[in-house]
Amino acid sequence: MLGVAITLNVGWIILNWRRVWPMVVGVPFFALLIAGLVLNTIFLVREVRRNERHDSFLNAVTHELKTPITSIRLYLETLQRRALSEEQRQQFYGIMLADSDRLLATVEQVLKAGEVGQRTRNQIQSEIDMRALVKECIETTLLRHHLSAESITFDDTGNEPVLVRGNPDDLQTAVQNILNNAVKYSPDGVHAQIRLTVESDAWVVLSVSDEGIGIPSAHLKRVFKRFYRVPHRNVLKTKGTGLGLFLVRSIARQHGGDATAQSPGEGRGTTIRLQLPRLLGSAAHVRTN
Ligand code: ADP
Repeated sequence: MLGVAITLNVGWIILNWRRVWPMVVGVPFFALLIAGLVLNTIFLVREVRRNERHDSFLNAVTHELKTPITSIRLYLETLQRRALSEEQRQQFYGIMLADSDRLLATVEQVLKAGEVGQRTRNQIQSEIDMRALVKECIETTLLRHHLSAESITFDDTGNEPVLVRGNPDDLQTAVQNILNNAVKYSPDGVHAQIRLTVESDAWVVLSVSDEGIGIPSAHLKRVFKRFYRVPHRNVLKTKGTGLGLFLVRSIARQHGGDATAQSPGEGRGTTIRLQLPRLLGSAAHVRTN
């Protein structure tokens, strides 16, 4: 449509280029018409993409809710119908607990995504030691994914607290989401490197680098959009809702910082950078646990 409009307009200009008045009125009018068409096309494409993201989010959430519920139901039925040994029972209880944790994590992620969008900055108050918080998140990740201590290295040279002001639960969610992704998108083994640095005395920067599947350059910005998941990765079939990095960036921005992604390309690892304003001052009321 755009091509036809441009051809018609240019044709008209060529045919009438000797007539002054139709030119003076017609050319800006045509320019306006074409600009309108371009804008319309942009909004249309955006809307189509948003709808696609919503659809895939609904599918992902439905799948994330249905799978553990079906599994728990199956184990409960088996427990009800069959006489099982104590060892088998304990094994089933373990599986059901893991499934309910997965269920809870999905529900919490969805609730948090709604909550974070509505919150304003002044609700954020505590002084937080990012070094302690990162260490705590690493330990949780190692435990949750049954990983050896060597799979995640923390380049931690200093001992002093690296302070930021903010909401401890939100910052924990952000760091935990970045770490979970580093594990989730490293199907051939986890080798994550974590760095916590202070830049220009003003910023606390956490960077998490993995050697996983990487992110194609066209998707580096889009992965922070709500519900966005890099398409055509069906081979991997990783679980997820497309809310993790959206939460990371929303939380970072609410704290006056930002989050970015870098990757040399597919199959060549990813680095996620979380940047927060540094808090200079006393270490009183610092959260260390
Ligand atoms: P989810 O992991 O639930 O799909 P996220 O918002 O956390 O959602 O991530 C969005 C998308 O970005 C993911 O679907 C994945 O394709 C890509 N991604 C995020 N982190 C990484 C990573 N460390 N390595 C490779 N791809 C990643």
